[in-house]
Amino acid sequence: MKIKSIETEVKSIPLKTPFVTALRRVEAVEFVRVKVVCQNKSFAYGEAPATKAITNEGIEDILTSMESIKELLQGKHPQEALQLLHEQQKIGSSAKAALDMAFVSLLAQEFGEPLYKFLGGKAPIELQTDITISLGTLDTMLRDAKGAYESGLNILKIKVGSDIKHAIAVILELAFELPKVKILVDANQAWSLEESLFFINAVQGVKIELIEQPVIAHDLASLKKITRESATAILADEAVFTLEDVARVHEGRYADMINIKLMKCGGISKAVEILEYARAHGIRCMLGSMLEGPLSINAALHLAIAFHDVIAYIDLDSPLLYKESSKELEFLYVGSKIVFIEKKKAKI
Ligand SMILES: [Mg+2]
Repeated sequence: MKIKSIETEVKSIPLKTPFVTALRRVEAVEFVRVKVVCQNKSFAYGEAPATKAITNEGIEDILTSMESIKELLQGKHPQEALQLLHEQQKIGSSAKAALDMAFVSLLAQEFGEPLYKFLGGKAPIELQTDITISLGTLDTMLRDAKGAYESGLNILKIKVGSDIKHAIAVILELAFELPKVKILVDANQAWSLEESLFFINAVQGVKIELIEQPVIAHDLASLKKITRESATAILADEAVFTLEDVARVHEGRYADMINIKLMKCGGISKAVEILEYARAHGIRCMLGSMLEGPLSINAALHLAIAFHDVIAYIDLDSPLLYKESSKELEFLYVGSKIVFIEKKKAKI
């Protein structure tokens, strides 16, 4: 199995409603899809969305990265291609993730098993995802949250912003109006240390599953203070991209949990390294994603099956936000539940 060609295509999937966080606002998922074809005619796909605000890669950057490495990878076995890919310093983590998932998928094909089995999973267990409630006015957020709950989604990731009073009002109202939902709070680095502690104090009467990345990624000292003060678990997202970041956060006790995303760490093979570290060190994880296309979500879901013992929360809700449901998903979304659809020939 040697790589013959690597082709790219830019795709876009409109969203039902704009997706708004403290960092960005988007109306469609834009991503690069890469198809890796081998000389024996087997092929696999990878995808990378443009998330300039997070990985510093736009569509053009991802395309340029892929173009720059094509020649080096052609003629190589996917295993060797993986190694060469991750040795590259100038290629961003999203571009790496797309190529990595295609190569790992090819290895799974060579192994003759679905990806989750190749990654060590046994059976395609049922998963559960949260759903993101975008940042908006109090009324809009309450309306969106109620709508989600009524359609069977009972784990809500609430995006809050720099207006701390608004964030507190949203969480208190939500907890009161929807007492049965699990509430996850994601500040996307919007708060200071003081604001974070103020928030924690103000909402201590309500049950929150976790608070995600309250302060700016590089401020690990504040993150540690918040983690120490908070009875609610603190989850590091933008502060952890790679295994080295995860080890630093764990060893320094900077956060209770970590959010792993294929686009941050550079793909499935790198996520596996992080998840194995988490498994060995008893770190509870969230498996998250950017706003992504269906094939990279498929890949993440296979990973979620294989590592369900260390993944406490799954944040793979992109397909629920698409305007029209995707036929390329290997999983069926029913409310919060995600079920694997057994097919004769898997896409990834
Ligand atoms: Mg986050």
